[in-house]
Parts: sequence; structure tokens; C-alpha cells
Amino acid sequence: MARSRSIIPFMLVGAVATGLGLWVWHRDEAAPSPAPASEAATPQDRSPTKTGLSGAGPLSPLAPEPDWAKLNRWQSAITREDFLDAMENVYTVSGSWREWFHLGENDVLVETGVPNERFRLRFANPGLERENARPWRGASEMPPAPADQPLKDVKIAIDPGHIGGSWAKIEERWFQLGNDLPVQEGDMTLLVARLLVPRLEALGAEVSLVRETNEPVTPSRPADFMDDKVPDATRRLAEQLFYRTAEIRARAEKVNTLRPDLVLCLHFNAEPWGDPAKPALVDQTHFHLILNGAYTAEELANADQRHDMMQRIVSHTHREEAALGETVAAAFVEATRMPPFLYEPNSTRAVNVNGNPYLWARNLLANRVYQAPVVFLEPYLMNGREDYQRIQAGDYEGMREVAGKPRPSIFREYADAVTEGLNRHYRKFRPIAALPAEE
Ligand SMILES: [Zn+2]
Repeated sequence: MARSRSIIPFMLVGAVATGLGLWVWHRDEAAPSPAPASEAATPQDRSPTKTGLSGAGPLSPLAPEPDWAKLNRWQSAITREDFLDAMENVYTVSGSWREWFHLGENDVLVETGVPNERFRLRFANPGLERENARPWRGASEMPPAPADQPLKDVKIAIDPGHIGGSWAKIEERWFQLGNDLPVQEGDMTLLVARLLVPRLEALGAEVSLVRETNEPVTPSRPADFMDDKVPDATRRLAEQLFYRTAEIRARAEKVNTLRPDLVLCLHFNAEPWGDPAKPALVDQTHFHLILNGAYTAEELANADQRHDMMQRIVSHTHREEAALGETVAAAFVEATRMPPFLYEPNSTRAVNVNGNPYLWARNLLANRVYQAPVVFLEPYLMNGREDYQRIQAGDYEGMREVAGKPRPSIFREYADAVTEGLNRHYRKFRPIAALPAEE
């Protein structure tokens, strides 16, 4: 098998854990359509009103025009070396970024999308990086926490992935096997979110749910995208603009108003199940965690994505994101023994992070536009035979025999693993207050 050298360690893990079954094209956030990752790159994506000589186009679907001037507060905040390291090892998948980012010795000039206009970011001299007021705090920047509440005053936004309820079919996050209970990802993620709230609050965190019901956060509906704003839109494309783009952008507005220290995006994964009324089950399970990165040339052709990526790079978001990801993934794997999901060796849309087979950088709309470190979880296979039986068993306290073994409810196992991961992260990186001296 001809595979590149860099993936050999993952191959070993993968081969030992699960055989080669994982080397399949991954069903992910955009799986039901032939489109790539987070947003379909169709001609309709480029809103005709946003392109042309006067605007800052092309822009991604429903993206506001980027405000480059706001990035000025990040002048001299990152060294050239750190910038280049982030670009080459996390944020891009090829050298084509240099088409829009002109790297000099002391600065980088970025094409803003407006003809003849470039944004100039000056690099910091090593050791002299300017401090900046970003909207979130990393664990090491927080005031000391009481020993029993390592998450004291940490602001966490939980984003239960998808919508669920009566929208589950439209968003293609629904299937039903015979007379079993239908599997609806959006309802399952909301259940996990509700279990997470008291667990994280017990550790001192301030927790907000980005969505509290199985109704959309956006006031838009598919019909809103079928008028002359998008002349060639089919019904399907309008639905995708609604649940995939408008919905996430509405959630981003909520998240960015909350100014959380981190965002948890909760999902359940699946392999292609075919006909949702006759879904195929598979004999496997896997887990991975997605951080922001791996922007493709096609994505970087959009001015808003260049801007959003710059914002994440200059604020050093990846450092906190990768540290969080590492601890949360380790806690998850310890609790569940799930093997990693491995992207294709030469994937053009995913970049492995720090050689950890569970950590992958990808450019999803949510982890790009939420202005905080984002931990995007993809555990379990909704149509994996054992996970499916655990989902059918529903939520319960304690242990029950499910699929031949005593197990906790899959939803509680999920919530407990995330809680344990965050507990460890803050215990590791945040100062803990000394106990008051006893008399
Ligand atoms: Zn999902």
C-alpha cells in the first residue's frame, strides 16, 4: 500500500485498533450532499450583489463583508515564525495561500477582496509580542481557581449540533430502522448538552446553551432563499442555505455576543446509511475531534474566510484549541476505547494535529466563525451496530446490559467524558488557589 511517510504512526494505530475499515471516505457534516465540508462551493455561493468592482467579493454564502480594520488591534501580536508555522502546519493544505497572502520579512499583505486593496499585518519581534484583548481567556490566563472548582467562572457555550425535531429529515440527520425509534442527531446532541450543564456547573463553569429546543435559532426559513436573492436556487439548495449556513451564522451571533472562553460543538458521527427508511448498519465505531484549520485554495478565494482565518491565527486560538482537544480526546478514549477516525492519507480537507490520531484540523463554518477556541466532537456512529443499540436503549442512570455488556447510557458516557477532559485541562493549565491557612 503506497501511503505517505507522515501517516505511518496513524496507520499503525488504525491497523491495530480496527483494521483498514476506517480508510473510507468519511461521512461528515456535509455528507448527504456531494458538496465538500462545511459549505457547498456552488456558483450560488457567490452572492451576485457582493461581487464586482465596488464590493469585497467573492464571499462565502451569507457572509457579511469582513471588517479588516478591526484586525489592526492585532498589529505586532505574532512573530513571522509563528505566523508561518500556523499557516503551513495547521491552517492550509497547500502552498496556494500565497496567492492572497504576500509574505514579507516584517509583515504580510493580505488581499482584502477589494481591487488594489491589501491589509498589512506587521509581525512582532520575537519575545516582544503585544498583548491583546481577545474576547476569550486561555486556562493559563485565568485567575487562580479553588481546588474543587477548576472551571470557576469559565464561560462555556455548548452548541448542540443540528436542529432535530421536525427538522431532522430536512437536515438529513434522521433515519429509522423498522419500528425502532427514529435516530435524530439534533435531539441526541441536545440531550447530551442538557446532561453537560449540571456537570460543568458543579466544577464552577458558567454554561450557556446556544440552542435550548429542537427549533432553529435563525429566523430564516428555506422559503427565504427561494426568491430573487438566489435566482437559480433549487429547493434543496434553499434548504441547505437554511439549516447549514443561516442556522450556523445565527448561532455564531449568539456565541460571539456571549464571548465564551470555549465552545463545545456536540455531534454524533455516522457512516453512510443509504436510504433513511432502510438504513445500513456497520460493524464499527470511531471517534475524532475537529479543530479549525485546513483551509483549501477554494475556501481562501473568499475574502471573509481569509479574514476569519487571520483572526484565529493572530489571536493564537489554535494553541488553546489543541491543548483542549488533546485532553478531551484522551479522556474520551480512556472512557470509551473508541478507535480514531483517520482521514485519507493525502486528504485535501483535513490536517492532522500534533501526530494525535484523534485530532484533526478542518475548516467548518462553526469552528471558523465562533470567535473562541472550538472543540468539535464527532464520537460514536449512529449507524454502528453497538452504538445504535445503545442509542435505542435511551438515557438511563447507572449501568445496564446493552449489546451484550453492562454499560452506562451512551449520552451520559459522552457528557462524563467531556466533563472529565475539561476538568483535566483546567487542572493542568490553570493556577489553583492555595488553601487558606488553618488556624
Ligand atoms: Zn453532526
